[in-house]
Amino acid sequence: MSVFFPHPPPRSELRSGPRFGPFGRRRRRAPPLTPEQTRQLNLCADQTVERLLPALGPALGACVLMLGVWDVLLGHPQGAQLLLLRLSLVAAGALTWFSTRIPWSPTWRCVVLYAIHTAALFLCASTYENGLMHGTPALVASMLSIGLVDPRPLRCLLVLATPLLLYAVLGAVALPAPMWLAGLAACGAALLLAMSLSRVNGCLRRDVWLREQQLLDACRHDSLSGALSRAYVTELAERDLALALRHGRPLAVAMIDIDYFKGVNDRHGHAAGDAVIRALVSTCLRSLRGSDYIGRLGGEEFVCVMPETRAGEALACAERIRTSFAALRMNSTSGPMRCTISIGVSVLDKHGAWGELLREADVALYRAKSSGRNRTLLAPSALHGQRA
Ligand code: GH3
Ligand code: MG
Ligand code: MG
Repeated sequence: MSVFFPHPPPRSELRSGPRFGPFGRRRRRAPPLTPEQTRQLNLCADQTVERLLPALGPALGACVLMLGVWDVLLGHPQGAQLLLLRLSLVAAGALTWFSTRIPWSPTWRCVVLYAIHTAALFLCASTYENGLMHGTPALVASMLSIGLVDPRPLRCLLVLATPLLLYAVLGAVALPAPMWLAGLAACGAALLLAMSLSRVNGCLRRDVWLREQQLLDACRHDSLSGALSRAYVTELAERDLALALRHGRPLAVAMIDIDYFKGVNDRHGHAAGDAVIRALVSTCLRSLRGSDYIGRLGGEEFVCVMPETRAGEALACAERIRTSFAALRMNSTSGPMRCTISIGVSVLDKHGAWGELLREADVALYRAKSSGRNRTLLAPSALHGQRA
């Protein structure tokens, strides 16, 4: 098998992030999100709504009550009764924003809260002459606030369509035709504005989210080889280790180091050395299972984590990696070259910790190096375990 050095991607490609947004100078069409990305983005939006609920609920409630106080101050004959009605509806709404026991998603909680508060507005406004018209600014304001909160225009439309329909029906009965049409036009315009706000909000959030994902990806992966970064492989391995210990399941670790790598750099140049590192990671990925992963510990040292793998299986896998890599014929500007690797394998015991597993694999690797290189050795503790 032979491998050619892959050319690095052009700089323009490296620099091009997702450049879009409502005010972008050179607006590019946003790449479509995968279903999984859409799911994650929606989850983020739901979490934002959930975080906003404790502020949004009381703010909407306060607005409804303020209008009630306003009625009393203006000396409306039913002012006190209406204030009580508003108070009870706001209290009912408060149950939805404070109660965490109701198994609704945050968005649905927000919808119920909004519906109850809008109902309070409508009920009170429709009890006195042309009151519905006076309630229109409050309805418009609440529509705009929904547009600001939820970045999904279609969901906004669904949420806002009900109060708008209610307004249309009640207004047709209670308001003179010109007033009804004017109110309807104001609410329709508010609905369009709310959906535009929601769309702009959605674009901005999507942009920020994609950049966050890029940043996360850059933190979690080594840019040269594509292997996981040391920090991320440690994070994943510690979680898998805890799971394996808890359920009494096996887990193995293989530490890999390229033999005489300094010589490769010296003879063939650093670009060739880089290509060897990339070829090693590709070889490992071809031999590992989907649930295994490889991380770069530093320099030309890598670690493969193999959950649900016993010593014998891990040793066989490591040998497969070693022989495949040794058989790889790579081309450099100074001619063809071959490289070998040494591997130390350790397995989880009853009291294992990640640092301990790595240390044992390192001991085995050191022995593989000192006994001639291009070989795979099992850590002494795993050997005892196998014999026992
Ligand atoms: P041994 O068989 O004992 O492991 O010998 P070695 O020469 O591989 O060991 P040593 O650790 O002394 O050399 C590691 C070299 O790896 C030194 C450094 O220049 C090189 N190196 C580390 N990171 C990179 C990299 O990202 N790219 C390239 N091209 N070389 C790297
Ligand atoms: Mg080395
Ligand atoms: Mg080394």
